[in-house]
Amino acid sequence: MNIHEYQAKAVLKEFGAPVSAGKAVFSVDEAEAAAKELGGPLWVVKSQIHAGGRGKGKFKEPEAGEKGGVRLAKSVEEVKTFVGQMLGNTLVTVQTGPAGKQVNRIYIEDGSDIEREFYLSALVDRATSRVAFVVSTEGGMDIEEVAHSTPEKILTFSIDPATGVMPHHGRTVARALGLSGDLAKQAGSLVEKLYAAFVAKDMAMLEINPLIVTKDGQLKCLDAKVSFDSNALYRHPDVVALRDVTEEDEKEIEASKHDLAYIALDGTIGCMVNGAGLAMATMDIIKLYGEEPANFLDVGGGASKEKVTAAFKIITADPNVQGILVNIFGGIMKCDVIAEGVIAAVKEVGLKVPLVVRLEGTNVELGKKILNESGLNVISADDLDDAAQKIVKAVRG
Ligand code: GDP
Ligand code: MG
Repeated sequence: MNIHEYQAKAVLKEFGAPVSAGKAVFSVDEAEAAAKELGGPLWVVKSQIHAGGRGKGKFKEPEAGEKGGVRLAKSVEEVKTFVGQMLGNTLVTVQTGPAGKQVNRIYIEDGSDIEREFYLSALVDRATSRVAFVVSTEGGMDIEEVAHSTPEKILTFSIDPATGVMPHHGRTVARALGLSGDLAKQAGSLVEKLYAAFVAKDMAMLEINPLIVTKDGQLKCLDAKVSFDSNALYRHPDVVALRDVTEEDEKEIEASKHDLAYIALDGTIGCMVNGAGLAMATMDIIKLYGEEPANFLDVGGGASKEKVTAAFKIITADPNVQGILVNIFGGIMKCDVIAEGVIAAVKEVGLKVPLVVRLEGTNVELGKKILNESGLNVISADDLDDAAQKIVKAVRG
């Protein structure tokens, strides 16, 4: 689960990490009050969307100006102008995709005088099963680009969970960033605080880009991007409260209500599969035959007829879907239950695209019989390969 920058900064502040003072606003009037309260003389007006690259992003609407989603203001009037331009408009960045994201909230922050910009992030490293830190002197840049062209400028180390952050970690970061004296001390303390926040809140990723040194010698988190491990949300109601569903895919929200593992993708073939492994294999084989899946969907091992119906509705609600492939292995799940779910869903929402169904396992004959006798226009398939070829052929007309 992702949160906005201003929320991430509030979490970091709880753990004592240095961030600027700021206030999230939803209107020009609120922005004016916030700007006066912060006092200036420099303010940063920051579009809050769940995507990075805002500074270099562009608004779709001409009235929002050419200057991107993060702007420096030198007066309260300027703050009001920028907020007026940004609110309600669609910001397109390298991370939003071409559709962009509508800006509905703005963070007004006390402006900092930047001396140097760095990169720092923490994430769960699967290779070491530890929290790993990534630091670089190349702040404010796209870290993937730095990793590609100048990998020697990136330093990575992981934290042993038994000892936690040790003084040598702080020294390592300070050396990598060329910090000495008090700044080196600040670096050590920052790593400790960020690690504490990461572990306590079950974060999956924490990215500070840029981490800055101000002209008056303070280390500060100028940007913050945090995502949380969804499997641990049950023990963090305070984190769940930060969720902004307007930033999420509607189909994914609907799916989560029915406890379905669903991820929207860009292709044209809707997939309904049980088991994550089979779902991955189904997506692979669709690609092998030259088409793209419209989604990943695992209905789970013991899905009910209602769950199958809900899943089918979510797939058909996607305007990009030109064909549907149902690929079910009836183990715990019975093929006749799937067949009934599919029929119930089609009766409710109709079927405007070709549907290929491949069933295997428990009660497969009964499942096939139910489908055949339903009068629905279902293309039946014998195995995974056959199913993929049939759906690809069907969507290509
Ligand atoms: P992003 O573009 O989505 O990553 O948004 P950031 O929060 O990283 O802001 C983009 C850029 O705006 C930063 O890399 C800084 O160069 C600049 N910026 C942000 N806050 C301040 C500030 O307080 N003072 C100054 N001078 N520049 C800032
Ligand atoms: Mg940034």
